[in-house]
Amino acid sequence: MSENYQGLVERQRAFFRTGKTKDVEFRVETLNKLVDAMKKYENEILAALRKDLNKSEKEGYRTEIGFVLHEIKYILDNVHTWAKPKEAQTPEVFGNASSMLYPEPYGLALIIAPWNYPFQLAVAPLIGAICAGNCAVLKPSEFTPATSGVLAKMVQENFPEEYIAVVEGEAETSTALLKEKFDYIFFTGSTGVGKIIMSAAAKHLTPVTLELGGKSPCIVHEDADLDTAAQRITKGKFSNAGQTCVAPDYLLIHKSVKEEFLEKMKGQIKEMFGEDVSKNPDFTHIINDRHFNRLSAFLDNGTQVVGGDTEEDRLFIAPTVLDDIKWEDPVMQDEIFGPILPVIEYDDLTEVIHKIVERPKPLALYLFTEDEEVENTVLGNISFGGGCINDTISHLATPYLPFGGVGESGMGSYHGQGSFDTFTHYKSILKLNRAK
Ligand code: NAD
Repeated sequence: MSENYQGLVERQRAFFRTGKTKDVEFRVETLNKLVDAMKKYENEILAALRKDLNKSEKEGYRTEIGFVLHEIKYILDNVHTWAKPKEAQTPEVFGNASSMLYPEPYGLALIIAPWNYPFQLAVAPLIGAICAGNCAVLKPSEFTPATSGVLAKMVQENFPEEYIAVVEGEAETSTALLKEKFDYIFFTGSTGVGKIIMSAAAKHLTPVTLELGGKSPCIVHEDADLDTAAQRITKGKFSNAGQTCVAPDYLLIHKSVKEEFLEKMKGQIKEMFGEDVSKNPDFTHIINDRHFNRLSAFLDNGTQVVGGDTEEDRLFIAPTVLDDIKWEDPVMQDEIFGPILPVIEYDDLTEVIHKIVERPKPLALYLFTEDEEVENTVLGNISFGGGCINDTISHLATPYLPFGGVGESGMGSYHGQGSFDTFTHYKSILKLNRAK
């Protein structure tokens, strides 16, 4: 029998209509309760992340629990201000009138999450939905059952399902949920599934945020500080075994500095993950056999500079750098999402820019240079979701920068006030005085 969520959605709608979630104090209370629940379940969450992905406790705390706690703190400090009606300007033609923007929650939010940061990418959108005053149904990934299970238990213990519900299951569960009418859908996952989500949302004219993936380039220009670049690219690429949506997917490096840079990168990999990474007990494994086989097939592209070792029984692939890669190689066709870094050298930055803009718009782009003109040329000529100059991935760790993609890498954004705004409709009101 196929799953049916009509009853759950009706119960949530009835709860939303009580107006309880519109009370800002209720939202604050919910967020505080969530913080307490996360503290109570901290060890279970970390153990689940270890089981699902072999994520170390340090990494799990920093990138999943700590990240969310930081976001909640920022939201709690600001939600009263964000939730207040805001004055807007009024054209003179209306005389002595006034204009206001009234923030109101959409209603029922459906959140669908992926497996790579299974706690963070489920709970960070959830706190956006909560702080804006919505009810929420959360569908975590089926590929991280331990983490999804703890999440479901934690939510169930603390919140009634007519307010916040976690529904575990496979793709079919999302399909069944998508048949119901939600007021907002927040999806994080692959571009292909993003298209399915958007067409399902269109049936109910439900607005969507799509946080998708893609191939994010990393450019190291001839004037870059190579030690800095090697250290920050190694960290951004190989943390979580490259299974990070904003990980640098491939490296474009100026010919004149390539050899020196690759030597430094080899050194950095050893320093960060050990002389023999296969003996590092904390190196994240690949999520499943399908991805392990898909990634292993890339290892004979180009020339291996470092890495290339695999252990199928424990889904281990060593951090690997592949030199002499061409744009046409298999590893350059789709998002890699694993610990493999293809390297393409360049002579002329303009050609590189042309190559990038011919392809789908990336979720992120990273540029290492000390030259402001180079920076302006890259920023002015390539469209991408967001990124860093002289760093990788850290742009997503600040509540002051909304995070999201553009084109094939997504639409909409969140984090900080972006999370409140995403789950909020701003009602525009013009108030006139009575006619004389
Ligand atoms: P996925 O698209 O396969 O799955 C994501 C979610 O969608 C899961 O909960 C899954 O059950 C559900 N789903 C799968 N097929 C579905 C279908 N046919 N209909 C409805 N729902 C379906 O993605 P994934 O493999 O879990 O995650 C990896 C992808 O996510 C990568 O492309 C990565 O770049 C992207 N990602 C993006 C971000 C971001 O913030 N932009 C963050 C993390 C991951």
